Amino acid sequence: MTIRRAAIEIHGAVQGVGFRPFVYRLATELELTGWVLNDVNGVFIEVEGESETIEAFTTRLQDELPVVAVIDSIEIDWLPPGGFDEFTIRRSEGMGTKTAVVLPDLATCTDCAAEIIDAANRRYRYPFTNCTNCGPRFSIIEDLPYDRPNTTMSGFEMCPACSAEYEDPADRRFHAQPNACGECGPSVSWSDLRGNTIDDDQAIDAAAAAIAEGHTVALKGIGGYQLLVDARSDAAVAHLRTSKERPHKPFAVMVPDVATAERYVDLDDAAVRLLSSPQAPIVLAAAHDGTDLSALVAPGNPTIGLMLPTTPVHHLLISRLDGPVVATSGNLTDEPIAIEDAEARSRLGDIAHGYLSNDRPIRRHVDDSVAWILEGSPRLLRRARGYAPMPVTVAEDLRAIVAVGAHLKNTIAVSVGRNVFVSQHIGDLETDEAHTAFTEVIDDLMRMYDVAPEAIAHDLHPDYLSTRYALSNPVFSDVPKVGVQHHHAHLVSCLADNATVEPALGVTWDGTGYGTDGTIWGGEFLLGDATGFERVAHLRPFRLPGGETAVREPRRSAAGVLFELGIDLTSAPYGLDSFTERDLGVLTRMLTQRNNSPLTTSAGRLFDAASAMVGLATVSSFEGQGAMALEFAASQDDPDPYPMAITKAEGPLVLDWGPMIEAMLADMGAGIDAGIVASRFHA
Ligand code: ZN
Ligand code: ZN
Repeated sequence: MTIRRAAIEIHGAVQGVGFRPFVYRLATELELTGWVLNDVNGVFIEVEGESETIEAFTTRLQDELPVVAVIDSIEIDWLPPGGFDEFTIRRSEGMGTKTAVVLPDLATCTDCAAEIIDAANRRYRYPFTNCTNCGPRFSIIEDLPYDRPNTTMSGFEMCPACSAEYEDPADRRFHAQPNACGECGPSVSWSDLRGNTIDDDQAIDAAAAAIAEGHTVALKGIGGYQLLVDARSDAAVAHLRTSKERPHKPFAVMVPDVATAERYVDLDDAAVRLLSSPQAPIVLAAAHDGTDLSALVAPGNPTIGLMLPTTPVHHLLISRLDGPVVATSGNLTDEPIAIEDAEARSRLGDIAHGYLSNDRPIRRHVDDSVAWILEGSPRLLRRARGYAPMPVTVAEDLRAIVAVGAHLKNTIAVSVGRNVFVSQHIGDLETDEAHTAFTEVIDDLMRMYDVAPEAIAHDLHPDYLSTRYALSNPVFSDVPKVGVQHHHAHLVSCLADNATVEPALGVTWDGTGYGTDGTIWGGEFLLGDATGFERVAHLRPFRLPGGETAVREPRRSAAGVLFELGIDLTSAPYGLDSFTERDLGVLTRMLTQRNNSPLTTSAGRLFDAASAMVGLATVSSFEGQGAMALEFAASQDDPDPYPMAITKAEGPLVLDWGPMIEAMLADMGAGIDAGIVASRFHA
């Protein structure tokens, strides 16, 4: 029998997930001696015993991982025996380069959810119940390593019962940093516009009563304030729409459980798994007809975004209600979610009837994520709570780069070694609040990972606030600034996401991206990799009268497309009937003189044009509304595609939509149903 010692180094999402107790239990079960240590670089283990047992240990280590842990790499070195007597958990050491992965906030696990409804449990109805499998992480971390003094829980001293759990390697709450109970932890409070304040369990009763009466309640969630109203009440949802200045964009709905969700939408197995995963995103799914949901929740939209309760506060609140609630970010349109109590009150003062708050500070804003199932797999539409700031891991070490992102739906990223940490969704950089959040997130990720930037990457668009920040911020005055073409960034992101570096043909169809020729690109076929690209094809260009204004007015895209085809705009073609004769004269002059009418190859604007021509969206209140309406209108299963032509000249191939638009006009002139026209357009 030969005793050996193995030194094991593990990198990945292994902090704050019950990884050390898991290692401890496994090692002691196999009667191995040694130790486990968690520091800013990852988890280090030494185990001593027979070779076969150590091999069993390393196999089971990977096979029986805690649900939320992710191992990126595991390295094993063999050493001479160290003569250990037992297996121990060593203290964290806060030194070295910070490369450990910060975990996202995770929805309440089933064990914790069961405890808060068990009258015999000491956490019965305690709204901040959590364990190593669930609860806040990213939203409460002040610094690495992830230990309680480095979180916003540092002001709460654990009671003896909580301390005992925290110190016990066999307990589910061993080193659960936000561990708390009603004796020692944060508490909820309710305050309403009349000046009433109520604490603890009755606070949740008061919030539930306010929702039941049709009021809007502001709730301090895990990553910021949310606004909640009764999702069955037209009046309550209408009030929320008016006060949030959000006339049409769909709202998400929270339901207590999967069974209730299935009453409202179609869910396949993959969707159920996604909905009830620890990440617990809002899941978009096809809505059932004839339910009690207000039609104002998602007007004209055949899908509904549903989510389950994500924290004990949500569980306790929704269990007191007899129906679903709208749960939307606590903000005005286009602003980031509010996280400070005072900020929430000043920004949401006119919207909310009352506040269900608590005394656990939120360190950074994290919105609810939005996802759906596409081809059987989850796809993220908005990446925040549950996912951020998990990295994309690339093949080789990168230089330390800060990438500041685009203007709409902004996120930023920083590279540390092989990890690219992608921030939570920040939003459209249209308001002062969004710009403040943008700079805070950059500072935050750089500080958290001690990033000394060697380069800053920005979009080529000279007027994006993110570009201006990159070019003018003194922090980056001495580092190279790298302008990246918008669709090239899309292509390379897609390569990284699929863990490949080989050149590929990337098809990027979106709304707006600044091209290398100074025109607005958006219907692009780029061949390339991280080092460069060739624009091999694009949609036929057309002019957008009014430039940016066209984003909110699909009818302007229609005017640009029709003008490009040589059609007289004053002859009242489809899509332009909401313009006055005078407007049409102005548009024609703008287009003829090429005045404030930039050229674009945007697929988004082409979809907008078609939507306006079919009569679905002439003016929109959010980006994508026109294209969504066109998609929802498509009614035919196996449509006959409209023709597109490919023209070859100097430079890239041109995918010409001219024949398609002419065929559409012919169909509409012949009285063909809009559902069929929309279907043929998509085909
Ligand atoms: Zn738990
Ligand atoms: Zn306690």
